[in-house]
Amino acid sequence: MNLKRNEMPVQSPETRAHNFEEVALGYTEEMAIDEAMRCLNCKNMPCVDGCPVKIHIPEFINKIKEGDFEGAYQVISKSSSLPAVCGRVCPQETQCESKCVRGIKGESVGIGRLERFVADWHNTFVTAKPEKPESNGHKVAVIGSGPSGLTCAGDLAKKGYKVTVFEALHTAGGVLVYGIPEFRLPKEIVAKEVEGLKALDVDIETNVVIGKTLTIDELFEMGFEAVFIGSGAGLPNFMNIPGESLKGVYSANEYLTRSNLMKSYLKHPDTPIMKGGKVAVVGGGNVAMDAARTALRLGADKVYIVYRRSMDELPARREEVEHAIEEGIDFRLLNNPVEIIGYNNPEDPRDEKNGCVIGMKCIKMELGEPDEKGRRRPIPVEGSEFVLDVDTVVMAIGTSPNPLIKNTTEGLEVNRWGGIVVNEDELTSREGVYAGGDAVTGAATVISAMGAGKSAAKAIDEFLSER
Ligand code: FAD
Ligand code: SF4
Repeated sequence: MNLKRNEMPVQSPETRAHNFEEVALGYTEEMAIDEAMRCLNCKNMPCVDGCPVKIHIPEFINKIKEGDFEGAYQVISKSSSLPAVCGRVCPQETQCESKCVRGIKGESVGIGRLERFVADWHNTFVTAKPEKPESNGHKVAVIGSGPSGLTCAGDLAKKGYKVTVFEALHTAGGVLVYGIPEFRLPKEIVAKEVEGLKALDVDIETNVVIGKTLTIDELFEMGFEAVFIGSGAGLPNFMNIPGESLKGVYSANEYLTRSNLMKSYLKHPDTPIMKGGKVAVVGGGNVAMDAARTALRLGADKVYIVYRRSMDELPARREEVEHAIEEGIDFRLLNNPVEIIGYNNPEDPRDEKNGCVIGMKCIKMELGEPDEKGRRRPIPVEGSEFVLDVDTVVMAIGTSPNPLIKNTTEGLEVNRWGGIVVNEDELTSREGVYAGGDAVTGAATVISAMGAGKSAAKAIDEFLSER
């Protein structure tokens, strides 16, 4: 049996670095069956243990072996409501695939690639819409349309609840539409999921900011009997170094939103963005990789990733790092910015270039002892400062939950990082108010947000069915 998994076809690095189309092209039916045949159908199913939502992995893979792709989809959809999304963006290498027995003497089964194949097959060939469930008369409000909100809304709607999703932005999908770029997750896939919810009679109200347009108390006054907060962690962190307010410094959220949601790469975009030139992206997570690869596709001549630790500590998914390297992103590891430098022409205060980024001063780092999380602590090397010649700086060093909802809701407890405090049923300190996803945990993963949306829906159902 082949020790290596079936490679998934991808666009060549030279071609894809200049377009926004999806990089990975997916398995054919033959490839999927061949890959499924590598699964040993282990009795103790270690892969399922590694899956945060406990998908019955060997069962769906067996269906693929039999060529029953819709059967495989039905198995997955018992546990996951967004398989086409998770098959693309889940960090399977640290979850299900890291536990796969085939990984001991070779490469693990490509579980994520098979999940993606099955979901795409279903989306292409199965057009039947789910039937609208009979109404149970209860109304639930969901705040935010990211994976946690969409999952919670979908699970409740299937049980007959009348669900309204309130979304601050003009398009539903959360990070799946404003953050993760088209070349990793086509927006059409997210739009299909949203359409699926509408078919279940879920109302989606966009351009409604809870905490400004309406408060949680007003939602209760409007007749909603329970509220789920899935408002994510969209508030960008900055380094608080000199020069962060110069022209040409973006948070990754702003940069990616302008590109993904407002299509700033088009000839006549809804919003401008700085294109071309030299771009430094600060950070080493998925967000940093997405911003760097977006900069390249927007036409940058040179893109740097500036990260204060080494490649071993880089938190982004391996596949994304490999893709970024293939595309020509220059990794400046063990470097940390200390100042962003702006152009200043004292002779002519009207010079348009005044206040624009012209460089980023960095200091070299070395790794010391492990910190409390076990990652080796970066320590600045004295006297090693140097200036990186750049015109744009994108800060991708993490995000936090926005305090708006907390500040406008009486009695909603949050922790010191701004995460909403919940019990094991995702219930907050307010009766009838549940929360989940990044709003609770801080920036995490799609699958964990989805899992929280699922368990909140179950708890809301138990709460309201007792009424
Ligand atoms: P979100 O997806 O953040 O959705 C929250 C929604 O709530 C947003 O649409 C927001 O506009 C809305 N909202 C906020 N406040 C309000 C309000 N007051 N009123 C109304 N609506 C409001 N995870 C992975 O697993 N794999 C990846 O490869 C990956 N890549 C990522 C790349 C980027 C660029 C980013 C930013 C994140 C990435 N993540 C990845 C993380 C993942 O996307 C998040 O963990 C996940 O989307 C969290 O889901 P959520 O439902 O909690 O919140
Ligand atoms: Fe198949 Fe790997 Fe799971 Fe075993 S651990 S059932 S080989 S996917």
